Amino acid sequence: MTLAENLGGSHRTARPNGKDLDAVSSPPLTVVSTAPDIKSRARAVASVAAAHASAVDRDARFPEEAFAAAKAQRLLGILVPADLGGEGAAITDVVEVCYALARACASTGMIYAMHQIMVACLVRNARDSAWHRGLLRRLCGEQLLLASSTTDGQGGGDLRKSDCAVVAEDTAFTLAKNATVMSYGAQADAIVATARRTPDAPPTDQVLVAIVKEDYRLEHHLDWDTLGMRGTCSAGFKLEATGTLEQIFPEPYHKIHTQTVMPVAHLTWSAVWAGIAAGAVDRARAFVRGAARKSGGQMPPGAAHLTRANATLSTLRGTIAAALQRYESILSDHETIAGLEFQTRMNLLKVTSSELAAAVVTSTMQANGLSGYRNDGEFSVTRHLRDVLSSSIMINNDRILANTASAALLVDVAASLTD
Ligand SMILES: Cc1cc2nc3c(=O)[nH]c(=O)nc-3n(C[C@H](O)[C@H](O)[C@H](O)COP(=O)(O)OP(=O)(O)OC[C@H]3O[C@@H](n4cnc5c(N)ncnc54)[C@H](O)[C@@H]3O)c2cc1C
Repeated sequence: MTLAENLGGSHRTARPNGKDLDAVSSPPLTVVSTAPDIKSRARAVASVAAAHASAVDRDARFPEEAFAAAKAQRLLGILVPADLGGEGAAITDVVEVCYALARACASTGMIYAMHQIMVACLVRNARDSAWHRGLLRRLCGEQLLLASSTTDGQGGGDLRKSDCAVVAEDTAFTLAKNATVMSYGAQADAIVATARRTPDAPPTDQVLVAIVKEDYRLEHHLDWDTLGMRGTCSAGFKLEATGTLEQIFPEPYHKIHTQTVMPVAHLTWSAVWAGIAAGAVDRARAFVRGAARKSGGQMPPGAAHLTRANATLSTLRGTIAAALQRYESILSDHETIAGLEFQTRMNLLKVTSSELAAAVVTSTMQANGLSGYRNDGEFSVTRHLRDVLSSSIMINNDRILANTASAALLVDVAASLTD
């Protein structure tokens, strides 16, 4: 069953409170997908990703084969509306692709997720800008890969503060950023970066700026040799860019963050972690089935852990699917999206998903015993475990829990199970 099927397939036409979403003026991301065959195209890419996942992890290298396949399947521009050369896919479609890819190769799934978060910002928050519409057309035509640069100097995971600033002169700008962590920076075709609006602006007065490869120079200064997610190649760079002021998104970053970056990031990341968990469950099922066959149908002692892994994965999928339904049902309702209840819910989605996904993979390790703990063999889940452990530190869960603590007092406890 897919994540969307958890919803009984009715979510795309949901119209909460009788609101006619189409009547709202600002063009949101699409709710009703018009894109054909996305699942089968994603499966084709996933089979390529699976074939190279071990090598990507071992060598901490970019999953180039999977992305060549994703470009051949034209999966990079699916979220872009048809009038700009895309397919008008819904966030649900993107989330499903993230799940399918990460089930095969976590780094491939996460790179795809990070790219799509930036595409969502362009579609939702920059469609009134001719320059950004041109970038979206190019993205579809050339299947450009977008990286994101938010982490800045010593700022850690606080996306709402920047050290670096845009320096404007007439119609041009320069930007110098200490991008301490930037996934696939070396392989990307363009970067979407946060920065202070001006050199005099406070750290929280941020803009988002899109720069294409011709506009910037990267100097590699920190390697990416990590426990997991090794193929994301999230190295540290000194970024130096020039461009014209029209490359700055028309809306302030705080609005883009609230409306798009945070919800889409937490949905797509959660789908990636669920995909990693599903990949581990695939291996636990194969192990338990083989063990039962060898002992004449007798279930091995670790089988209960597979049951637990399945149950936790089901909870995780349901949690993501419900959050996805909620986001898609209020896409055009900017006030509700910016409200404390929705912002808290989507922030906590990230924390819950990361914890549940890690719990699933840990259960599969218990189910498979030494065969799961080994680095080799078809039942190994060590790569899954290493990859999924990145989830709690990718914007640290502690930071999110601390930031949302007061919301626990301000947001009412739900009066109903289904509202
Ligand atoms: C796989 C992966 C890919 C990434 N790709 C990118 C990318 O492409 N572009 C990009 O810009 N960044 C990227 N990042 C970086 C990410 O966005 C965060 O910046 C990073 O995860 C934060 O790391 P940190 O632990 O150093 O910082 P912090 O989140 O600042 O945490 C540091 C420590 O402080 C604690 N802490 C922080 N705030 C609080 C608080 N309020 N209360 C209590 N404790 C707190 C945390 O528990 C932690 O121990 C990536 C990270 C990962 C893991």
